[in-house]
Amino acid sequence: HNFQQTRFLTSAPTLATAPADSGAEVAFAGRSNAGKSSAINTLTRQKALARTSKTPGRTQLINFFTIGAPHYRLVDLPGYGFAKVPEAVKREWQTHLAHYLRERRSLKGTVLVMDVRHPLTEFDQMMLGWADEADMPLHILLTKADKLGRGAGAGVLSKVRHQLKEWEDLVSVQLFSAHKQQGVEELGERLSNWLSP
Ligand code: GDP
Repeated sequence: HNFQQTRFLTSAPTLATAPADSGAEVAFAGRSNAGKSSAINTLTRQKALARTSKTPGRTQLINFFTIGAPHYRLVDLPGYGFAKVPEAVKREWQTHLAHYLRERRSLKGTVLVMDVRHPLTEFDQMMLGWADEADMPLHILLTKADKLGRGAGAGVLSKVRHQLKEWEDLVSVQLFSAHKQQGVEELGERLSNWLSP
């Protein structure tokens, strides 16, 4: 797959208005500020495909992109966890997200973006639980790896792998850096395998 050919398709507030559930798609999820938009922009080699935004609490939309052909899609799930969002809105979004992971047949796998300095947050644990329930493969990006030295990065990687040992059939983990373009090929290979096994 040529991820440079990724183009915006549509935004949907809920699954009800999402594109038809056919073909194959991969989703990106993460806590707000984890580095999800930067990872998508790096993968697709486009400066502003996914907005790197510092405005919390803007309308939560699921953004759909096509990758080359209309039946291959990349899905940008809203960042999770801004404190300013009311509890009720958070809970509603959690329900939508769990529903999406469980019911979306074209979804082949989800990339879960974590800041390498703060891995496995409460949100991440929740995602792991849902992925497990839905039998949905997860690929974890430990991003901003450039913020740590090589040894420290490798240390976090092996620690996280160890912590997720019971899920090793479903979960893979890698280091990534948007700033250093590190791990782009590994991410692309994982996504390509999901989209066209
Ligand atoms: P999102 O909210 O998860 O989409 O996060 P963004 O992609 O908008 O990034 C949040 C902040 O982290 C921004 O200030 C980015 O410049 C920074 N950031 C993202 N990726 C990296 C990275 O690989 N290395 C470093 N050092 N900073 C990063």
